[in-house]
Amino acid sequence: MNDIQLQNIRAEFPILQEKIYNKELIYFDNGATTQKPKCVIDRITFGYEHLNANIHRGVHYLSQKATEAHEDARTVVANFLGAKTREEIIFTRGTTEAINLIAFSFGEAFCTEGDEVIVSELEHHANIVPWQMLCERKKMKLRVIPINENGELDVDAYKSLLNEKTKIVAIAHVSNVLGTINPVKEIIQIAHQQNVPVLVDGAQAVPHIKVDVVELDADFYVFSGHKIYGPTGIGALYGKAKWLNQIPPYQGGGEMIATVSFEKTTYNELPFKFEAGTPDYIGSTALAEALKYVEMIGLDQIAEHEHSLLTYCTERLINEIEGIRIIGTAKEKSAVISFLVGNIHPYDIGMLLDKLGIAVRTGHHCAQPLIDSLGIPGTVRASFALYNTKSEIDVFVDALKKVVGMLG
Ligand code: PLP
Repeated sequence: MNDIQLQNIRAEFPILQEKIYNKELIYFDNGATTQKPKCVIDRITFGYEHLNANIHRGVHYLSQKATEAHEDARTVVANFLGAKTREEIIFTRGTTEAINLIAFSFGEAFCTEGDEVIVSELEHHANIVPWQMLCERKKMKLRVIPINENGELDVDAYKSLLNEKTKIVAIAHVSNVLGTINPVKEIIQIAHQQNVPVLVDGAQAVPHIKVDVVELDADFYVFSGHKIYGPTGIGALYGKAKWLNQIPPYQGGGEMIATVSFEKTTYNELPFKFEAGTPDYIGSTALAEALKYVEMIGLDQIAEHEHSLLTYCTERLINEIEGIRIIGTAKEKSAVISFLVGNIHPYDIGMLLDKLGIAVRTGHHCAQPLIDSLGIPGTVRASFALYNTKSEIDVFVDALKKVVGMLG
């Protein structure tokens, strides 16, 4: 990506013009949420100004148009993930809701006492707690794949955890703390040799890596719109139809039914069986806009740009910040840098960087078991997106030097 392209991209994100404490905003908290381009913001306004009516049940013009837009958005998501059919895409509030949906519904259909679920040590709470709740409900066991000192999954340990009691494997595609890109294709192949399905938490992957669920052979793949330049409160679950058809609905209500009587209710077909109540049809269309925007720029180009930021920033930090310790040094790594400096508490670094207009995240990043296993109080995390620049990294590294000088 050349400088002109990058400046043009930046100009499409209005918030990047904001001043924070009178300083240029440097936004390095993209792992938590990304900023929104004008086309996404405009699509939300357009929806409410021109296409707002409840969908699926109206005969009138606006309702039909809004329904069409929502269903077109489903097709965009299906194509984006490489799904075979659009019915395999369920709109959810995001990654968290999608994982809860599968943990509940898959658990109801396929799990009993004594069964096991496999997750890994580097999961976000969203891919731990729903499985723990399932384990409590059904008296099952949660098994955990360990990681090595670089923050990479121990695949041999994973193989030895899989057994006839394993009912499902749930694994992050990319770690939100370490940036590790997990070998999900291999993880899936290994599970499938034992007929065990795999859910992939793609929250930190889809903004950075081209995903093809058919090529991966993922049984379930989930992500959040807000982490890929889309709105908050909308995300998607991809599930192979063969699984989605076998598991019960997650929530009951309007839309997910075929017929209702006080004696018996029958359920709607896919995907509606899993979309109880009025869906976020404005959010879905704005999410589709975000995905089209990403595709227009090209995930390969985005990945290349972000990787160059990752390399540049990592080198500058290692060479110029005394006492820095990078947490997460996997060979395959996404544009996330978690670090600690000497004994300085990450929160203090984050607070002072904020005063200089630099937004980073500090703490356990919703991955407390990982942070505990590393024996650290948390990290400072800088996570990059397509609109970040090397000159922002220059400002960041210089600011960090100042901050460390003050705190050290
Ligand atoms: N999984 C991972 C790897 C994440 O990074 C996050 C959010 O940070 C989530 C799940 C949860 O996403 P959401 O809060 O959008 O549901």
